[in-house]
Amino acid sequence: MTEAVRYRVSMPRPHSHLFEVEAQFPPADVLDLVLPVWTPGSYLVREFARHVQELSASDDRGDRVPVERVDKRTWRLRPHGRPVRVRYCVYANELTVRTSHLDGTHGFFNGATLFLYSEALRDRPHQLAVDAPPGWSAFTALDRTDGGWQAPSYDVLVDSPVEVGPHRPIRFEAGGVPHEVVVWGGAVDASKLAADLAAVCDAEAALWGGLPMPRYLFLLYLVDKGRGGLEHAASTALIYPRAQISTPKGWEDFLTLASHEYFHLWNVKRLKPRAFVPFDYAGENYTRLLWAFEGITSYYDNLLVRRSGRMSPARYLVRLGEAFSTLAATPGRRVQTLEDASLTAWVKYYRQDEHTPNSAISYYLKGELVALCLDLEIRRRTRDARSLDDVMRLLWSRYGDGKGVPEDGVEAAASEIAGSDLKPFFDRAIRSTDELDTSVLEHVGLRLRTRIRESVGDKGGTPPRLKEGDTRARAWTGIVARGSTIGTVLEGSPAQSAGLYPDDEVIAVDGVKGDAAALVSRADERSPGEVLRVSVFRRELLLEVPVTLERRPEDAVWLAPLESPSDVQRAAFERWAGAPLDGAT
Ligand SMILES: [Zn+2]
Repeated sequence: MTEAVRYRVSMPRPHSHLFEVEAQFPPADVLDLVLPVWTPGSYLVREFARHVQELSASDDRGDRVPVERVDKRTWRLRPHGRPVRVRYCVYANELTVRTSHLDGTHGFFNGATLFLYSEALRDRPHQLAVDAPPGWSAFTALDRTDGGWQAPSYDVLVDSPVEVGPHRPIRFEAGGVPHEVVVWGGAVDASKLAADLAAVCDAEAALWGGLPMPRYLFLLYLVDKGRGGLEHAASTALIYPRAQISTPKGWEDFLTLASHEYFHLWNVKRLKPRAFVPFDYAGENYTRLLWAFEGITSYYDNLLVRRSGRMSPARYLVRLGEAFSTLAATPGRRVQTLEDASLTAWVKYYRQDEHTPNSAISYYLKGELVALCLDLEIRRRTRDARSLDDVMRLLWSRYGDGKGVPEDGVEAAASEIAGSDLKPFFDRAIRSTDELDTSVLEHVGLRLRTRIRESVGDKGGTPPRLKEGDTRARAWTGIVARGSTIGTVLEGSPAQSAGLYPDDEVIAVDGVKGDAAALVSRADERSPGEVLRVSVFRRELLLEVPVTLERRPEDAVWLAPLESPSDVQRAAFERWAGAPLDGAT
């Protein structure tokens, strides 16, 4: 039997935010130990090795083994044919789903931040033991073994985050498989959480024809701000705002987040881009398919909460409308294609700045809307005999063994299910910056309609609410406020023509004290053609910039029913959304 690599993680001084790691490696003459620079699912080089300190090594006789630091992520050991034990500390004070965090309340770690490994030993079993402080327990989706857990390979080990703390998990069953939820940072209604998550998980299992893992673990971190998740093969880590999760819309949104990460059990964890097989932990891994792995997942995260009965058909259409509205307000959709957004995620989506809305699109957002159009296009072409569900199941049967989806695999499967060549669809949707062709919504009796945003917080998705008779033309500057300063100046906007810049600190509008947020709301009270005198500090210099307001664009979008949808359209809607069209609009 091949000897396992063994890790022991302890946290005797949680206030120091230092995890202490001891790792044992089988005999070797020279052993290069490395740490990943990224963790799968989060496409940014994060240089985890920068948090490693105080590394030392000894052999099985207790003699010191020399260690040479070779580069930013590599330590070279010369144990001269003996087994070696390595000790080091890792600073962990970043509470996100893709990093690690240790304090007096809990410990959470992603293996890629903690576990030095050897490429030569990567496919061997890797074992883990955790020394938890008194009263704390460890939770992870790894297989239990004597004294800890075992993974068949390093890849499985680092795909299984670990939470350690004084937790009492919430348990439920879905698809015949036990599920656990561990919550840190606040309280949730446990019975509601279990019931709603079970319904969503069951809806997903129904789509795919059963669950691909023997157990599942949700780790939920409630925080003051931040929303996100990271998918794993039998678990997920979710982060969600504490104040929102108790509101009805927040709860619904949280379910879509959980639904999203759960859908990744199949789409990206087991069905993955061939470019990720195997993962290269040394640097960027490039694929043009992230739109499919994230966009299709984003499409289904809402749809499956809808199918589970936890979101009304009307709310489902509102959320789709909000997504169309966000895309419509992003000038970058005219600059970047979906394939390019996928390929360059490492330097664009994950490295956003003030220019991002003007130069880039999210492969989540546009990908979701392309998935919607693709689903409806397949339904239209097959007279509702087939759908995107069938494409996903075909991909699952073809590539679910982990060999990876080739770059043209998704399009080929979609054309196969549709029974005709979808290349023109994909050329426009993912390889061009042309506006999406949304006429296919007619297939389910819907069409897109647009209006102006009626208030600063108006996210679109709904019909106009303005009082009848309020026909006043609304004005805007085209800035996005970031607190007191200007965050983004949108491409082609009045603010750009006037010469306002990102980072300008707005201090007055027409001589009256007010910041960037005030500039947005005061423009809303005025009319197109009027001039606002905007006083700003640019670095240390005071400037007054006259801005001629323009008519606000109609970039709030909602899904409206056709005037008299046919029986065929009504039936198609019901088949797609799981409820009658009349109740939904
Ligand atoms: Zn995702």
